[in-house]
This record gives sequence, C-alpha cells and structure tokens, in this order.
Amino acid sequence: MKRDSLLIAVLGAALISAPFLAPPFWITLGNYIGLYSIVSLGLVLLTGVAGQTSFGQAAFVGVGAYTTAFLSLNFPAISPWLNVVTGVALTAIIATFLGFITLRMKGHYLPLATIAWGISLYYVFGNMDFLGGYTGLTGIPPLNFFGLELRNERFFYYLIWAIALASLWMTSNLLDSRTGRAIRALKGGLEMAEAFGVDASRIKIIIFVYAAALACVSGWLYAHLQRFVNPTPFGINQGIEYLFMAVVGGAGSVWGAVVGATLITLLKQLLQDILPRLLGRAGNFEVVVFGMLMVLLLQRTRDGVWPWLARLLPRHAAPPVPPAPALAKRARRDITGPLLIVDRARKQFGGLVAVNDLSFELRSGEILGLIGPNGAGKSTMFNLISGALPLSAGAISFAGESIGSRQPYEIARLGLGRTFQHVKLIASMSVLDNVALGAYLRGTAGVARAALRLDRDEEARTRADAAAQVERVGLSADLHAMAGSLPLGRQRIVEIARALAADPRLLLLDEPAAGLRYREKEELARLLRSLRQEGLTLLLVEHDMDFVMGLTDRLVVMDFGEKLAEGLPADIQRNPVVLEAYLGGV
Ligand code: ADP
Ligand code: MG
Repeated sequence: MKRDSLLIAVLGAALISAPFLAPPFWITLGNYIGLYSIVSLGLVLLTGVAGQTSFGQAAFVGVGAYTTAFLSLNFPAISPWLNVVTGVALTAIIATFLGFITLRMKGHYLPLATIAWGISLYYVFGNMDFLGGYTGLTGIPPLNFFGLELRNERFFYYLIWAIALASLWMTSNLLDSRTGRAIRALKGGLEMAEAFGVDASRIKIIIFVYAAALACVSGWLYAHLQRFVNPTPFGINQGIEYLFMAVVGGAGSVWGAVVGATLITLLKQLLQDILPRLLGRAGNFEVVVFGMLMVLLLQRTRDGVWPWLARLLPRHAAPPVPPAPALAKRARRDITGPLLIVDRARKQFGGLVAVNDLSFELRSGEILGLIGPNGAGKSTMFNLISGALPLSAGAISFAGESIGSRQPYEIARLGLGRTFQHVKLIASMSVLDNVALGAYLRGTAGVARAALRLDRDEEARTRADAAAQVERVGLSADLHAMAGSLPLGRQRIVEIARALAADPRLLLLDEPAAGLRYREKEELARLLRSLRQEGLTLLLVEHDMDFVMGLTDRLVVMDFGEKLAEGLPADIQRNPVVLEAYLGGV
C-alpha cells in the first residue's frame, strides 16, 4: 500500500502541473485518457479480478452521456451536477436487470451476451427521436462550478482527473477489503467463494453495477466536455476498445486501467499522425497497424503492461501484522442430539449410484473418519453435506436445520467449514489474505464502507485473526508468501487455516493428508487432535487407513456408495468385511 501512496503522490504532482506546462492538444488527450481510465477501472474489477468479461461497457457510458444531455436540454432548471445522480440510478437499474440475466452465463456465453446488449443499447440511442436519432443532441450546457463555467478544457481537466483518481482510490480500497477478497475468489470458480459464505451471484451483480456506474460517470463528464452526443462513441467498437485498455494495461491491478488508457490513446494518436506521412496517403491504416500491435502485445505480455512496470518500482517487505482486538466469534445456537445427521442420502450420476442410501450421525466434539477405497463415493458424500452437489434423495440435517436443499453459502453460514480435495487457493494472493477470506462471515463491511476505507478497524481484526490461524497451523514463516508458491502439502494446510478462520463448528476435510510426508502427516494429526480438544467437530474423508486409525473416534466405511461398517477404529481394523473390500482380502 505504501508503494501505491507514493505512486499517487508522484502522479498527482505531474497531473496538477500538466495544464500549465502542456500545449492544449495534450490537455485534450489527457482529458480523454482520464475519461477512459474511469471506464477501464470498472473493467479491471469486473474482468481482470472477477473474471467476468464485458464488451458492453461503452453502452453504460452512453447511458450516462444521454441522461445528462437529455435532462440538461429539457429541464435546464435542474443542475447538471445532479444529472450524474440520475444517470447512475438509471444505470444501476439497467445493469441490475442485465446482470441478472447475463451473469449466470459461463464460458463464452457471457462475453457474447455483453456484445448483444452493447449492440442493442447503441441502436436504442440511435432510434429514439427524443435522443436526436443518429445525429444526436447538441447544445449541452457546460458544467458550472460556483459560477465558473467549465468551458475551458484546462478546468475540465482537473474535474476529470479528480474523479478518475477518486475512482482509483475507491476501487483500490475495495480490492483490499473483505468484499475484495470475495471478488478475487470468484475467478477461481464459485465453489470456493461460496464455501466461505459468499453469495456469489449477489457479489457479481454488485461489481457489475459498480463497473457500470463508473462508465456512466465517465459518460456524464464526456457529454459536458464535448457538449454534444451521438451514438457513435457508445457502440460495440468502443466497448471492445475499453476492454483492450484494461487487458493491455494489466487488468489485475487498478493501475493497469490508467496505463492501458494512456497507452492506447497515445498509440492511436501517434499512428494517426505518423502513418499517413510514412505511407504518403491517407486511409485508416492506423486501425490495421493498431490491431496488429494489439495482437503482438497480448502475445508478449498476457498480464498486461502494468506488472512489467511494477517490477521496476522499489519493493517493500510486507510489514508484520499488528495485534488487534479479537474478531467476534460466530453466533451458534445450542442443539441437542447429533450435530450432523445423514439420513438415507442418495446421489445418482445418470445410471451410477455414487452414494446409495447412506445414513450416519456425527456427534458434537468427535472426529469421525469416512473411509473407503478409491471411487467408494466419499467425496460425493462430502459434497452432499457441503451443498456443492444436490441430493437425489434422502435428507441431511446440520446444527438442527435441514440442509438438503440449501446452497453452499447458506450451509457455510450455519457453521460448516471445509477444505477441497483439489486445493483451491488464490495463487497470486498471500497466505494471509487467503486465510482472511475464510473470515468473510465474521465481518460485515460492504462495498461502500470498504471503498471509503471506513472498514479499517474490522480489517485489522480480520488480519490479526487470520495471522493467528496461520500460526495455529504452524505456517507463520509463510504468512506473506504467495499461496501459489508453496508446496502442495502446505497449501492443504493453508486451506485448513482458512476454514478455521471462519470459526466453524464442523470442519469437513477431504483427504487432508494426501501429498504429505510422514513427518507432516504426524504434525497434521497433532493439529487435528488439538482442534478436537478445543471443541471442534471433524469429519475426515480419507483414503489412507493408517492416518485415520490413531486419530479418529469412530469410522464409517464406504464401498460402492454403501455403508460397509461403522464402529471404533480398533474394531474396524479387525473387521473381515472391511479388510476384504479395502485391502482386497490381504
Ligand atoms: P471417492 O472420493 O470415494 O474416491 P467419489 O465420490 O469421487 O469417490 O466417486 C464415487 C463415484 O462417483 C465414482 O465412480 C466416480 O467416478 C463417480 N462420480 C463422482 N463425481 C461424479 C460426477 N460429477 N459425475 C459422474 N460421476 C461421478
Ligand atoms: Mg475423493
């Protein structure tokens, strides 16, 4: 964060002095770069961080521009400054509606859908008589700042960049927060985010609206800068260009938006100036060369230009996590009877019955091992409990509530923590931040509080708690390491710390010992025993019989989706039916 403050200071000084030093032509360019940066910032969040590709942002710029154009011309009594509020409200309504329909789509369907509504909105602008058709609306009044008319581009420059920097600050704050971690988690698939109580569809809509609102603000500024609007700059071509800016600049970081907007604006200008002179004739050659350069650039630096620039900046070691008051424990209601009741749970995949009317119970405070040979249906059973897979038949109740038809994030809210058989960490985020994601449900800060940095108190507690969980599992030395840089065995342990950060009452572990060496397995067993001591209930899905023997209180043995045996480890070890199935009769 220090590096960001320094950058903001340097950039700020350069920006403030620019209008007095630079010729007007450069100020015009600077204005456009600012306007484009605001839109690309939204795309950094939406596409770069959350992985939702949108080609349709230009349409939202259009909504902002046309709203203020229409209102200033038809209702001159309303201050144009208020029109941005109306524009954002209208954008929010449209984006929520479009988001509901399109954000469910996966793979190439989502980008195609954004292209579709990008094109439609363009034709809406062009075909509405009250919006001036394809000729557009002219005579939009300039903005008025305490009696000072911002006709002069120099003045406008300050307004644009004040808003661009404020958006940069807010977006950067948002990414460095409770919601920010949830947004980052979306890119790795919804399953992981939802396991920590994140309502993924809701967060997707929120960032979609956030990105659309930024685009709308840019459009509002554009309309008052140009003082006329027509549909052309809000079409799909411009939508593609915005996406280019974010991707070329580096969609993983807020600075990528500014770098991309600058680079593409300057490059296009340069090509427009140079090519006709070079080729000796006019034509749209810059588009051709620009296209080829983009392909080359994307091929060379897939993460964009920013990470490459960032490497040139001085690096600071991550500071130690300061102590903070403890994060509140999750509220849990008292229950009598077993914590988890699986009652004739069944899961069919087509003709294959992966879990065949399985029943078992889990008492509070015990470690139950669910064991069986490969393909027995253990992971499927695990996914039925966590809600990752829907039941075909039967019932499951957890903490006194029926969870058979609940979403994973709802089950997480009841106090279920889990790890994944195939590790799901955010590789480019530190161990500390990954673990802090686990504490999502113990915090309350939303988008607005995070963006305005009013969440620092809660954030400090979250980080202190996450650091404590990392220490609890014995990984303090790796606290600031990127999660993806750890060996796989240790990544599994990070997943346990992340699940613990949620303060769960039941912890579900799917093959936690896989890939660990003997010593590490012993340490893991020690950790799990100490967790039981602290009152946690554990369900351990394991393939490794030796690992569970000394650790678990009871075992349920599965084979071909059915329960083969249930009992104390010592009895199971001697059970001939189990030995037959498990060890092939050895
Ligand atoms: P285990 O974890 O005990 O090794 P699984 O629960 O992963 O076993 O798998 C049980 C059976 O269900 C296997 O035959 C597996 O191929 C099948 N199976 C698991 N998941 C799916 C799925 N999503 N679609 C189809 N078959 C599946
Ligand atoms: Mg499995």
